[in-house]
Amino acid sequence: MRKRLSLKCCLIWFGIPLTVWLTFNLFSWHLKLTADWNQPNRLKLRAKKTLLVRKDSLKKENGGESPKFEQQCEALSEVFNKALVKRYNVTVLHSLGVVLSPEDQKLRDEGYQKFAFNALISDKIGFHRAVPDTRFPKCRDVKFPSIDLDASIVICFFNEQPSALLRTVHSVIDQTPPELLKEIILVDDSSTLDDISCQIETYVNQHLKNVKFVRTPERQGLIRARVFGANHASGKVLVFLDSHCEVNTDWLEPLLLRISHDPSTVVVPVIDMINHDTMEYQSSPLVRGGFNWGLHFRWDQLPASMQSDPELGLKPIPSPTMAGGLFAMRKDYFHHLGEYDLGMDIWGGENLEISFRIWMCGGRLEIIPCSRVGHIFRKRRPYGNPAGGDTLIRNSLRVAHVWMDEYKEYFLKQRPQAGHLDYGDISDRVSLRKHLSCKSFQWYLKNIYPEQVVPGQTNNVEIYHHFPRNQLRKEPVIIRHGQLTHVDSSLCVQSEKKPYTKKALLTLAACDTKTLDGQKSQMWYETVDSQLLLAQLLCLDVESGMVGKSYARLMKCHGNGGSQAWTWTDKGETSLLYNPASGKCLTVTAATEGGNLFLDLCTGTKEQAFRLS
Ligand code: UDP
Ligand code: MN
Repeated sequence: MRKRLSLKCCLIWFGIPLTVWLTFNLFSWHLKLTADWNQPNRLKLRAKKTLLVRKDSLKKENGGESPKFEQQCEALSEVFNKALVKRYNVTVLHSLGVVLSPEDQKLRDEGYQKFAFNALISDKIGFHRAVPDTRFPKCRDVKFPSIDLDASIVICFFNEQPSALLRTVHSVIDQTPPELLKEIILVDDSSTLDDISCQIETYVNQHLKNVKFVRTPERQGLIRARVFGANHASGKVLVFLDSHCEVNTDWLEPLLLRISHDPSTVVVPVIDMINHDTMEYQSSPLVRGGFNWGLHFRWDQLPASMQSDPELGLKPIPSPTMAGGLFAMRKDYFHHLGEYDLGMDIWGGENLEISFRIWMCGGRLEIIPCSRVGHIFRKRRPYGNPAGGDTLIRNSLRVAHVWMDEYKEYFLKQRPQAGHLDYGDISDRVSLRKHLSCKSFQWYLKNIYPEQVVPGQTNNVEIYHHFPRNQLRKEPVIIRHGQLTHVDSSLCVQSEKKPYTKKALLTLAACDTKTLDGQKSQMWYETVDSQLLLAQLLCLDVESGMVGKSYARLMKCHGNGGSQAWTWTDKGETSLLYNPASGKCLTVTAATEGGNLFLDLCTGTKEQAFRLS
């Protein structure tokens, strides 16, 4: 009896908790498994679907199954398997950028010169990669109905870096349901780097069936090149993309769905950032488009009313303007609305022109938060204007005269040099505005952009915040601090000037642990994002696009990794400080007081050994 009782007790006291514990663990293990595998599975499923469609068309081409067909299928599967599971995390991307040889150095330096981003990493990534799914979780549950529209993707390029361009094209093919993709129109705007034109044309003709390669008769600039591309398109919807983008999961469906509900809505995806130094794909905050009176595009914080909307992140966001490079609209609506101003040259201003035109002439412009496309934001534009001169200011002048009525005076006041410029004939655009019975600019400001501050008028809507795209505004999270010592010389790294002086170079000095001043000017703070801040003020940085010797310097922290990321890397006994933007390691020019710090190939010599303590 006692025995039976204790057995029962055992069962109750241990058995039940054990079962509960086991069930809980099994459940959370299952959850973890589904969460971890969620994304690759989606990609594999999509890949499988695309593969099946491709195999089907191969079968038709071959007139049924045959050994040749089998062989082709196998090759295709291999390409797919290799291509779509390539998923790079930040550490792998950093290691792809290591400069190992003079050839790497050349590729990198020339890449920065010609294309203004890191061509070495871009080439190593190749034409396919799976980018992180940056959508809000609620977007992932959306089920799309079948959509009765197809899209022509128009990608214009001038002297684009080939692997970035082909990754753009392949990412569209890999991530778009075939039934929605009518074609890709690749417009070569008469690139002058000859091998690029030929290289791309040959590749497209040999490997890509659904891609039309067209070339402008002479350099047109992105505005006329887009119209040229649109005229070659046969899909119901036109989607314009820059030539250095990568699209995200289910990027096209939400854009088309919105257009299918309202044919006069022009839609823009959220533009994620691809870091120009490291090719990291980084999520962008939800912001919308605005402009200042110098007619520069800017990103604005969402008005408070939108931020508190429980459907934020799912619902379309009306936007006063668009950034310009990436958007979708019906092809018939594009023509109806007057395409673009063909009198505009090369680059700039067309985004505000089409934004004003859309709103003032009866359409809508919206950002679709569940659609995300990454774009390489470069620090400079690598090409010029064959005719010389600033095309942005001349194009903006046309915008002001056609669309802004009396408000153009604010632009002319901001940019007095514009007043004397010849902006060409605008009569066609003025009559287009009349013909479309477009509303006034005052109406636009009052109804679409009431947050805009008009000089001399008090704005009673709300205080508005504007910020540069690249500024994520992350507070640095410090993980440790100490002096940065060059091991061999036992000297400490400090600024050549005051610790708050921007662009100051770094130098070696005797370590000063005694005076407060010495401690401050030699105290480095390492953050979770691998930044190194001197005196918690400025970040250790390197001019990443430099050709030749690049020096370490202090700059305002930008929070985007790349030129300000420093990862400790062990090589034998030595701890090196690797900088992923330059692909090189921190090195002293001379192991003496006054020696400077520059970036050199990571060889692990004593010039490169540091410690933070
Ligand atoms: N582009 C073009 N012809 C030109 C200038 C630019 O076709 O004369 C292309 C360019 O290759 C890119 C797109 O137009 O695909 C937008 O230009 P860019 O990326 O330089 O503009 P940003 O993104 O820097 O504003
Ligand atoms: Mn671009």
